[in-house]
This record gives sequence, structure tokens and C-alpha cells, in this order.
Amino acid sequence: MKAPFEIEGIALSTTLSIGVAVASIGCVDEDLLYKQADLALYEAKTKSRGTYLLFRPDMQVKADWTKRMRSDLLAAIDTNQFTLAYQPILKTSDLSIAGVEALLRWHHPERGLISPAEFIPVAEETGLIIPIGNWVLRHACQAARRWPPHIKIAVNASIKQFENNDLLGAVLAALSDAGLPAERLKIEVTESILMTEKSSCMEILRSIQDAGVSIILDDFGTGYSSLSYINIFNFDFIKVDRSFVSRVCHQNDREPVFEAIMGMAQALNIPVTVEGVETPRQLQYVRDLECDFVQGYLLARPMDENDILKFIAGGNCITDAEAKAADRQD
Ligand code: C2E
Ligand code: MG
Ligand code: MG
Repeated sequence: MKAPFEIEGIALSTTLSIGVAVASIGCVDEDLLYKQADLALYEAKTKSRGTYLLFRPDMQVKADWTKRMRSDLLAAIDTNQFTLAYQPILKTSDLSIAGVEALLRWHHPERGLISPAEFIPVAEETGLIIPIGNWVLRHACQAARRWPPHIKIAVNASIKQFENNDLLGAVLAALSDAGLPAERLKIEVTESILMTEKSSCMEILRSIQDAGVSIILDDFGTGYSSLSYINIFNFDFIKVDRSFVSRVCHQNDREPVFEAIMGMAQALNIPVTVEGVETPRQLQYVRDLECDFVQGYLLARPMDENDILKFIAGGNCITDAEAKAADRQD
């Protein structure tokens, strides 16, 4: 199926994915067999396309959990199962705190702590990301009200929150309820917003920026990223994805693409945050490149509302012992 096929003078390319389920001897439940093949097909399509996969029982377990997650997410807001973790963002020059990123946590009554990487896609798919996103905005702004005025709060927003939703209204309401000036809030969006065909998303982004909120391009350098994307919108900050810095392990390791991103951001006068700094060598590397802000486990882990207040008051960096203890808790 790979070759381009000429149909009525037009060259068409297509891929083929196949899901396979095998019936056990003497036990043929056709519906079940189709469902299993469909699950295998779904994974074949999402993982690598142009391939076939055999059904495995863990595919069923995952599908059942995703289905259950949808109904559980509905109840999660009303039953206070969400909290926010706060991770400091520091100035690279003197490691003083400049801002804090709010990171959503879901404490499931039976499953324990669930990572946002697992439930945000389901929340997006079901539309629940809109009430959840509004909850995050409100709570993050309320928390920031208790911090000194120079410390900003950064909130992640999903592209789905820009579609069919009054995001500007939600942002303004969260700010006014908390009595927080718009300049204290930053919204983090990923490159996917630049690739959307819906021009309304970009208009909403612009209207939020016009209201005084800063817009950060998060996870830059991943996905289908192109350096030219930086020019599509007048971003206030760029946050470089942690995959770059994570590859800097030894004294002479360098990341040429990362350095190119830095060079371009500096030429455009856009401040850069580097996330995922885990070792002193990585910190030294980003310092040498004159990155403006750093965020990462070396400096401080995401923490609860009380600990971030203490961190702000004391300006303490997390110690190795604390990090190891946190690892064990994870
Ligand atoms: P993100 O916005 O890029 O957030 C940074 C992630 O990296 C966080 O993971 C943070 O805990 C983790 N991190 C920070 N420093 C380090 C480090 O030094 N090493 C490593 N390995 N990781 C580090 P987390 O909290 O699991 O969040 C994952 C992603 O989920 C976020 O990535 C963001 O895309 C999404 N997310 C989190 N909260 C929200 C939210 O309120 N709304 C939306 N739409 N997405 C959210
Ligand atoms: Mg982020
Ligand atoms: Mg990020």
C-alpha cells in the first residue's frame, strides 16, 4: 500500500494498518473477536502506522481503564480530587525565584496519584478539559495572590481550551476573582496551537496577550517543530523541551540544535526558560549559553501550596537527600 497509486491522474499515497485477534479453539465469540482486533488496530495506528499488531490482554485492560477514567474524571472536580503542584522557575544568573509553574495532580480514590500525561489526553477527548482548565486557572491565580508581586504564575493550557470556549472570559474571571493583575499570569501553550487550521485559536491567544497576560511557547523543539514557528506569534517567552538538556551528560557534551534555538531566541530578544535541568553539568551548560530561566529537579521539584510558600520565603534549593526521598515516594 505504500507506493503512490495513480488514480485518475492523481498520485495517491496511503498506509495500511491491521489489527489481528486470534480465537481460541472451541470458543468463538465473533463480537469479542472484532472488538479485540479493533483494539489491536487502534494501537497499530497510534504507535507506528503501516504495520500489524496482535491483540494482547493488556490492550483490553488499558481500554477499560480509559473508559472508566472518563466517568471518574467527571466526578473528580466535584469531589476535590484535583490539586496543584507548584514548581519554581529560577533566574539562571543568581538562582532567585522568578515564577512558578502550576502542575495539575489527580488523586484518584482507588488508583492513587495519576500523571497528567495520562489523564489530560482523556480530558481533552471528552471535553472535560474545559471545566478542569478553568478550575486550574482559578486555583493557580488564588495561590499566586499569596506570593510577592514579582513572582509570576504559569498555567498550562491545552489547545482544546481555545476551541469552542470563552477562554479569555475564564482568564479574566480567574484574575478578577483572585484580585491578581494580568501581568502576574503566564499561559503556556505548545506548538500544536500554531499548527491548527482554526484561526480563532490564534485570535483568542492574541486577545489574552492583549489583556496583559504573557504567552509562553512550551516544550519547544519537540513534535513537528520548525524554528520558523517562533515567528508566527509574538511569544513573550520560549520554554525549551527537556529532551535537549537531558542529553547533556558529560563535560564536553553539546546540543547543536538547542544552541541554534538559543541563538535564534536571543536574536529575536525572546527570553528562554530551560526545563528539566537535573544535574550541575546541565545547569553549567545552560548558564554558559546564557539562558534566562531554569526549571528542574536539581533546583526544585513540584511541591504543594505550603511548601512553595516556604520555598519563596527561604529561597532554598532542594537537596539531594530530599530529591531521593521524593523519588522513593514517587
Ligand atoms: P510541562 O508543562 O512541560 O511540565 C513540565 C513537566 O516536567 C512536569 O511534569 C514536571 O513535573 C516535569 N519536570 C520538571 N522538572 C523536571 C526534571 O528536572 N526532570 C524531569 N524528568 N521532569 C521534570 P508533570 O507535572 O507530570 O506534567 C506533565 C505535562 O502535563 C505538563 O508538561 C503539561 O503538558 C501537562 N499538564 C500539567 N498540568 C496541566 C494543566 O493544568 N493543564 C494542561 N492542559 N496540561 C497540564
Ligand atoms: Mg508547561
Ligand atoms: Mg514543558
